[in-house]
Amino acid sequence: MNHFRPPTEDMQFILHQVLCAPEQWRALPVHSEVDADLMRQVLEEAGKFVGEVIAPLNREGDEIGAQFKAGVVTTPPGFRDAYQAFWQAGWPALSAAQDDGGQGLPTVLEAMLYEMLSAANHGWTMAPGLLHGAYECIKHHASDELKARFLNKVASGEWLATMCLTEPQAGSDLGLTRTKALPLPDGRYALSGTKIFISGGEHDLSDNIVHLVLARLPDSPPGPKGLSLFLVPKFYEDGSRSAVTCERIEEKMGLHGSPTCVMRFDEAAAWIVGDPGKGLNAMFVMMNAARLHVSLQGIGLLEAAWQKAHAYAQERRQMRAPGSSTRAGEADLIALHPAMQRILGSQRAWVDAGRVLAYRTALELDAVKHHPDASRREAASQWCGLVTPVLKAAWTDQAFSGASACLQVFGGHGYVREWGIEQHVRDARVAMIYEGTNEIQAIDLLLRKVLPDGARALTALLGELRASLSDCSDDPRAMKAIQEFERFVRDELLPGTQAPGAPADRAHWLADDFLRAMAMLLMAWAWARIGSEPAAKSARWTVAEQAFWRWVWPEFGLRLGLMRATLAQD
Ligand SMILES: Cc1cc2nc3c(=O)[nH]c(=O)nc-3n(C[C@H](O)[C@H](O)[C@H](O)COP(=O)(O)OP(=O)(O)OC[C@H]3O[C@@H](n4cnc5c(N)ncnc54)[C@H](O)[C@@H]3O)c2cc1C
Repeated sequence: MNHFRPPTEDMQFILHQVLCAPEQWRALPVHSEVDADLMRQVLEEAGKFVGEVIAPLNREGDEIGAQFKAGVVTTPPGFRDAYQAFWQAGWPALSAAQDDGGQGLPTVLEAMLYEMLSAANHGWTMAPGLLHGAYECIKHHASDELKARFLNKVASGEWLATMCLTEPQAGSDLGLTRTKALPLPDGRYALSGTKIFISGGEHDLSDNIVHLVLARLPDSPPGPKGLSLFLVPKFYEDGSRSAVTCERIEEKMGLHGSPTCVMRFDEAAAWIVGDPGKGLNAMFVMMNAARLHVSLQGIGLLEAAWQKAHAYAQERRQMRAPGSSTRAGEADLIALHPAMQRILGSQRAWVDAGRVLAYRTALELDAVKHHPDASRREAASQWCGLVTPVLKAAWTDQAFSGASACLQVFGGHGYVREWGIEQHVRDARVAMIYEGTNEIQAIDLLLRKVLPDGARALTALLGELRASLSDCSDDPRAMKAIQEFERFVRDELLPGTQAPGAPADRAHWLADDFLRAMAMLLMAWAWARIGSEPAAKSARWTVAEQAFWRWVWPEFGLRLGLMRATLAQD
């Protein structure tokens, strides 16, 4: 079985050539000194760490899994040492501010690191996956006193963090949260309740764990507006343990290396983070960062599955491929069979375009924070708001269906454990569910981001895509697609959902198809950008580009057709 090999050259090509990242950094005072060479060095080092330390732990992590005994969780062999080496080398703090003990490097570097980590070992990566979001949440919402206690430890990753939202009755609808927070005389709050499905709620990877918990103050209004955010560590500064315990860990389909915990809070003394009743606002900082991370999990897992299937297809021989012109003796490689070429080419098309979009989103996140021009900050914020749910939903769907297609390349050998491809299919499935299910992402996109402003932000985004194509691409297909989508939104979607008398639930029926159509459109743009690069004229890139236009892109027309059928219903 092959371990994952970090594809740092491909990643750099997208970042530097296709996205021209150094130009973008020059526009941000905080990153104006970041240059391509420094980024290259850091990424190569990150790739080495991931390939040599994290990837080899993946198989045992899956087979042995996290273990639970009397409230204590033990992670699989090697996980703790790898985590200690990870934070001590400064990897979690790559893009944390220098004032907080971080290295102040661009967010995109952290995104690329987590893509590689997820590909190499999804179970292990769940633990640090929430750290940066927790850091941002504490940095932007906690009091100075709380920051003094926790910010540096979380920024450096010395202490890991959790996001405690879900309860048995409160999943997608966090407004149903019941965990209570009662004021204590010392200004803190006593948290009581049960949270379920908490990734890394208890473990032995770090010496302390910082829990960020959504709970309800007395007399708070029902629903999401009554929620506040609290922080409670596993251990307080004096070494005493908080009243937060792990009741059990879940047995699950995949992700065995990550303990998914049921956590009990028995009047645990906690600090409030941000203002009362603004818990969801504070948590959204963490959730948005987490959603981009989950997209990167999808991209990474698909790359890992593709690597395995591609390597296998170069070795396995079955029947002569039709129309094969290769030397006799090689003509029976399954890599030459059209059906296998289609599977492999399509997954490459998804991974490469996914990288363009995810890295661009990470670059935009820095522009939102640091660009001196307010209109540029606004455009960047719109990009992140519109593109993040598309990335999260479409690329996690593809990680699962694409990993399953890659398993198909192995025939029966993929269904047995030997080659490790079945683990990717099992591990990938959950990414469609957590951090807001993919259905919730589609609703977020259409009902919260597109329709309320009459598609103003979307139209601006489409205009930006068009402008960037006329700069650098002569591929008319993407341009035509953007124009077609603009017309569809203006002439059919808006009247069909907003006109007086339009069925109130119509937009909900359309949401999934709308998100998929957006995914196709964004991929078309990404492939037009890649295709316009002279260095992408090699077989490495053209095979994937052709696969995109031939086998992936036609879904755009299908989705428009489905939406038209829905719009035509009474
Ligand atoms: C391995 C794992 C790790 C997790 N880690 C964490 C964690 O660290 N912290 C944490 O707080 N939670 C975590 N979760 C929980 C996860 O975020 C929830 O499972 C998820 O939000 C969905 O909630 P639910 O399972 O209750 O499903 P439900 O909300 O009951 O949804 C069931 C189905 O109904 C659909 N649905 C629900 N509402 C709507 C709607 N309005 N419109 C359309 N469809 C809808 C959903 O899309 C889904 O298909 C984790 C879950 C797993 C499995």
